[in-house]
Amino acid sequence: MSQANPPEPGCIFCKIVAGQIPAKVVYQDDEIVVFPDINPAAPVHLLMVPREHVENLMTAQARHQALLGRMLGLAPRLAREQGAADGFRIVINNGPDGGQEVYHLHVHVLGGPRPWKRL
Ligand code: 5GP
Ligand code: ZN
Repeated sequence: MSQANPPEPGCIFCKIVAGQIPAKVVYQDDEIVVFPDINPAAPVHLLMVPREHVENLMTAQARHQALLGRMLGLAPRLAREQGAADGFRIVINNGPDGGQEVYHLHVHVLGGPRPWKRL
């Protein structure tokens, strides 16, 4: 069984997970932390991150499959609670050509009344 990755020095989402950078956490459990995007592209724009530093889906391991499933499973409830009752979009950017800016896996949850920007 492989070990969890350690926090990555300089990773902004590791720092949010550790409470070293402030964020308005709207949900957290032993594996997942959720907070609003600092530059929202929709009325509701949440970022769901694993506590463990995983770069993206390209480097995720088989042991992360249940975690990834749990993140997607949580999205409808959090979207509804945060004001996106009529639907939402899930975006996961991966690597340079995927437009990824922060290299700590995160699920964008975008919703709320239209119109809003596309990612
Ligand atoms: P990516 O392009 O990597 O999928 O998305 C990174 C997202 O992280 C961007 O939407 C950006 O606004 C958001 N972000 C970057 N730095 C911070 C931060 O310090 N706090 C929060 N809440 N969001 C951040
Ligand atoms: Zn990280």
